[in-house]
Amino acid sequence: MNIPFNMPLILGKEIYYIKQVLSNQKLSGDGPFTKKCNTWLEENFGCKKALLTTSCTHALEMAAILAKIQPGDEVIMPSYTFVSTANAFVLRGAKIVFIDIRPDTMNMDENLIEAAITEKTKAIVPVHYAGVACEMDTIMGIARRNNLLVIEDAAQGVMSKYKGKYLGTIGHMGCFSFHETKNYTCGEGGALIINDERFIERAEIIREKGTNRSKFYRGQVDKYTWIDMGSSYLPSELNAAYLYAQLEMAEDINNNRINSWNSYYEELSPLADMGKIELPHIPESCQHNAHMFYIKVRDLKERTALIEYLTVNEVNSVFHYIPLHSSPAGMKYGYFHGNDNFTTRESERLLRLPIYYGLGESEISDVISVIDKFYKS
Ligand SMILES: *Cc1c(COP(=O)(O)O)cnc(C)c1O
Repeated sequence: MNIPFNMPLILGKEIYYIKQVLSNQKLSGDGPFTKKCNTWLEENFGCKKALLTTSCTHALEMAAILAKIQPGDEVIMPSYTFVSTANAFVLRGAKIVFIDIRPDTMNMDENLIEAAITEKTKAIVPVHYAGVACEMDTIMGIARRNNLLVIEDAAQGVMSKYKGKYLGTIGHMGCFSFHETKNYTCGEGGALIINDERFIERAEIIREKGTNRSKFYRGQVDKYTWIDMGSSYLPSELNAAYLYAQLEMAEDINNNRINSWNSYYEELSPLADMGKIELPHIPESCQHNAHMFYIKVRDLKERTALIEYLTVNEVNSVFHYIPLHSSPAGMKYGYFHGNDNFTTRESERLLRLPIYYGLGESEISDVISVIDKFYKS
């Protein structure tokens, strides 16, 4: 009995909505299901504008264009993140300034941002790791004082909150992922969340290949034309239909994952109390979405041994990011500001355990008994 690390979410109603798309004979983007998803995000999360995109990578690229990032501009972000967080800005010619993370949440250390700001700094990109919020009040305050934009990489943070506000709706813009490894999915997909009205009109243009086609469809102009740079960032209606079935059930999906997360936390507490492992820390300001359950072990050597032991016992566990500043492209396009006290060390200790919608209590107990056995032997 093999326990996978992730299972892409399929509830059942997706196929019903996809069949509606087929009978509507409208497969391309911005049809009824894309609009339903956009409206769902706007109404439930309380943002000014939500635009479905083909991925979070593309939502980040749109945000970089909207932020008018120019060659030589600097963008501050953690090194402990996915490549797309950096790539979106590298594509516009930016220099990436990586800063260290906090060991408790694996999020960017908000106290290190100000020292990394120069005259060239244009934006701060907080990444809400594991769906646990960065310290957004501090980050927004720094941005305000220094006239910077904040673009949240909330790829993992859909449905999470910081002080009662949904992640992605706090910065000037936020980016969601609906990749199959995320809590809500359509295989490949994402959304750009716009919280500052200044960006809405241009976002619609960039997303529609640089044309004012969105205005044309609303009858606001009588023909559409090329007016700005842009690309094709609209997902197909098939993807939107799949996603809508999951957004409708977001509360249930969230509760199911939270239950699994809480079981892991409770059942692993004895090992943590014995000092064998560390459990994730959730700050009081944050309501998380159980995107991930990770433990931290002593060091890289112990993690490698534990992964192997879990694999032999048919449990799939995985480590996560190799810090970007130590990758070939990271060295070329960016640099680490300050000391790497935690990024490398903590990334080498972190191990992600299986979590997905529908993961059973008995499977969680099985995972934990394997980990228990590892530490007893
Ligand atoms: C998954 C992820 C992305 C990329 O999302 P895609 O939808 O696959 O493009 C970006 N940033 C973070 C932090 C992620 O976890």
